[in-house]
Formats: sequence, structure tokens, C-alpha cells
Amino acid sequence: MTDSRKGLILINTGPGKGKTTAAMGTALRAVGNGMKVLMLQFLKGSWHYGELDAVAGFGQNFVIRQMGRGFVKIGGAETDPEDVRLVEAAWEEARAAIGSGEWDMVILDEINYAIGYGMLDPARVAEALRGKPELVHVVLTGRNAHPTLVELADTVTEMREVKHAYQKGILAQRGIEY
Ligand code: ATP
Ligand code: MG
Repeated sequence: MTDSRKGLILINTGPGKGKTTAAMGTALRAVGNGMKVLMLQFLKGSWHYGELDAVAGFGQNFVIRQMGRGFVKIGGAETDPEDVRLVEAAWEEARAAIGSGEWDMVILDEINYAIGYGMLDPARVAEALRGKPELVHVVLTGRNAHPTLVELADTVTEMREVKHAYQKGILAQRGIEY
């Protein structure tokens, strides 16, 4: 019998809400199939998200690690070298995790922002994805996914914003935003 299993590259992008939470839904599905999932969160760090506590119950089958500080200076401001250093460390860990054989699925949450802010070279990410072990699934999230990575991915979903509570002045809600 031929084995039809194949590791996929997925991207959740676009301006609408749901990129990270959809990745966590995919992770939950994988864990339920006996797979081991690692989510590395680029840039995130200062907020305490409910999922961190929920996932603790899965032990080593579903691990979420925050690799940033939770805020990044962008726009006109100079990029803080500390943030660049944290992105670099996150990327090194991501690359190692993908190739380690330890994880069936590696989720690179918010990595598209790190690339978009010029803190990580998309060519390096593309190279690692091309060379990934056959069966490992990799999920990338964040707005404005780089065209090179979109091209490389198997499944790309763009979240479209129809409306968001924030526009009515409703602040981030527990259980919805964090
Ligand atoms: P979520 O983590 O809820 O799945 P996301 O990953 O799609 O959201 P990000 O771009 O990572 O969104 O932004 C993270 C935060 O910004 C979340 O708190 C999210 O609710 C909020 N957010 C996402 N989309 C919008 C939007 N269109 N307007 C305002 N806030 C948003
Ligand atoms: Mg997100």
C-alpha cells in the first residue's frame, strides 16, 4: 500500500481576525491524531494568552513558546537590536525544530510580521522550508505573507476583514483576543 502522507506548508494571512486561532485549531486536530505540535510565537511575549494555560495540559504533545517581547518598534522608529536578536533566536529554534524529527507540526506564529518588518530574510525561511523533512507540517501566520513563501506553500488562506468589534471601540476581550 502506498503511503499518501505528506507534510504540508500552510499559510494563514490577510487582515481579518483568525490567523493564529485557526492555526491552533489545526494544532488541536493534529494532537488528536497523536501528533506532536510545537508553536513558536515570533514577537509575542508580554501578553498572557489563555491558550498558554490550556495547552499546558497537553504536556510535550502540544507546546507553545513565546519568543519575543510582545511589542516591536516599527515605522519611522529604528528597529531595536534586541528585537532583531530575539527574532534571530526564534528563527534558529524554528529551523532546528523543523529538522529535529521531534515534531510532526511546527507553527511559526506571526513570522510573517517579522519578515514584513525586515527582521528576517524570507530567502532563509524559503530555503529551510524547501529542505524540510518530508512528513513535517509547517504553518506560518501573520498579515502580508511574503510572495516567495506564498508561492512555496501548499495551502494559503487569506482572512478577509468584514468587520471587527475594535472598530466600534470595543477593546480586546478575554477569551476572544487573549
Ligand atoms: P487571532 O489571534 O485572534 O486569531 P490574528 O492572528 O488573525 O488574530 P494578528 O494579526 O496576529 O491577528 O493580531 C493579533 C491581535 O489583533 C488579536 O488580538 C486580534 O484579535 C486582533 N486583530 C486581528 N484582526 C484585527 C482587525 N482586523 N482589527 C482589529 N484587531 C484585530
Ligand atoms: Mg496572530
